[in-house]
Amino acid sequence: MIPPRLHATLDALSAALLVVGPSVAGARPSARKRLAAIGLGVAAYSLATSYRDPAPERPIRPELHRLLDAGHGATCLALAQDVDEPSARALLRGYAAFALAVAALSSPAGPRGIQVEAQAAAVPGDELASLRCGIVNVAFIGAPGSGDREWFLVDAGIPGSAKPILRAARRRYGQARPAAILLTHGHFDHVGAIRQLMDEWDAPVYAHPAEHPYLTGRLSYPPAAPEVGGGMMAELSSLFPRHAIDISRRLRALPDGGHVPGLTDWQWIHTPGHTPGHVSFWNRKNGALIAGDAIITTKQESLHGALFPRARLQGPPAYFTPDWSAAQSSIRRLADLDPNVLVTGHGPTLQGAELTRGLRDLLTAFQQRAMPRNSRYLQGPRRTGA
Ligand SMILES: [Zn+2]
Ligand SMILES: [Zn+2]
Repeated sequence: MIPPRLHATLDALSAALLVVGPSVAGARPSARKRLAAIGLGVAAYSLATSYRDPAPERPIRPELHRLLDAGHGATCLALAQDVDEPSARALLRGYAAFALAVAALSSPAGPRGIQVEAQAAAVPGDELASLRCGIVNVAFIGAPGSGDREWFLVDAGIPGSAKPILRAARRRYGQARPAAILLTHGHFDHVGAIRQLMDEWDAPVYAHPAEHPYLTGRLSYPPAAPEVGGGMMAELSSLFPRHAIDISRRLRALPDGGHVPGLTDWQWIHTPGHTPGHVSFWNRKNGALIAGDAIITTKQESLHGALFPRARLQGPPAYFTPDWSAAQSSIRRLADLDPNVLVTGHGPTLQGAELTRGLRDLLTAFQQRAMPRNSRYLQGPRRTGA
C-alpha cells in the first residue's frame, strides 16, 4: 500500500509533470493546454485533501481523493484516444496508467478472509449448478431435463446477463420454464436481468419481506463504504447503483417457516447483515448451501478478485455491508449447518473438509478476517433510506 505522505508527493509530482512536461516534450499548444488543465485539476483537489485519516480539516477525504484519482485516470485514458500527436498521446496514456495504479495501490488493506485451497470447483450431483455472469454467480436448482415449472433460478446477475442465463437455462432445461426466480437480496449485481427473465418466463419472484422495500421502489440501500479498502471495487463502490428497482408486479414474499413454494428438500434461511432481507438456501438432504453474499469465496473488494475469482473464504462484500453484527450471526448460523457444498454470490464453489475448516476459521477470527478495519458502519447500521 502507498502511504499517505508518499501519495501526496506523487500527486505534487504528477501535477507538475502535467503542467511542465508537455512543453519539454514539445507537444502542440492544444495538447499542452489540455494536459496543463488536468495538472491544475490534480493540484486543486490534492490541496483540498486530508491525506491522513482521520484529519478532518480539509474537505476531501482520502477515499474521495482515491476516487478522483481513478476517475481522472480513466478520463485521461479516454482523452488519449483522440490526441493525434504521438508524444502527447504516450504521455497521457502513461499518466493514466500511473494515476489508476496509484489509486489502486493506495487503497487500504480490506478484510483478509481465510485462505482455502483451490478445488476443482464443480458442484457435485446434478441438482445444483452455478453460472458465473461477470462479477457474480447465479444458481440453478433442479436436475438437467427438469420439466416446465419444475426448476428454480437463484438471483439474476449483473445488468446484461439475461442472454447468458437464458442460454444456460435452455441448455439445461430446453424450453421448460422455471417455477420461480428466488432472490438472495436485491443488490444491483444480483437483480440485473430480473425484469427480462421474469417477463420471458412469466415467472414469480420470491424474496424475503424485509427486502421488499428495495424491490418495490420504496427504499434505496444505504450508501457504500469505500473506506473499507481492499482494492478498486471498494474504491469505486460509491458509484455503484443502490436505488430500489420496482418489480412489484411479480414479487412475492417467501412464506414463513422456511418453505419455498414448489421446492422440496430446500429451505430458505434469513441471513441479514449484508442487507436486511438477505436469505440463503439450504438443502438439508445433501448438505448444499447457496449463501448469496452472506459468505463469499473471493476477495470482492479488489477488481482482480472480482474478475478472476480465486478461492478465499470471506464475509460479505465489505463496501456494501452496513450491519456487521447481524452479518456475523448469519455466518454462524450457516456454519452451524456444516454444509458439504457452498455456492456463493461471488467466487468459486467450495466443498468438503477445506470448506469446514475455512468456515470455522472465518468465525473464530471474524473481527480480524471478515470485518474491515475502517467503515462508517463499524458502530452499527444507520437508519437510511429514501
Ligand atoms: Zn450484495
Ligand atoms: Zn453481490
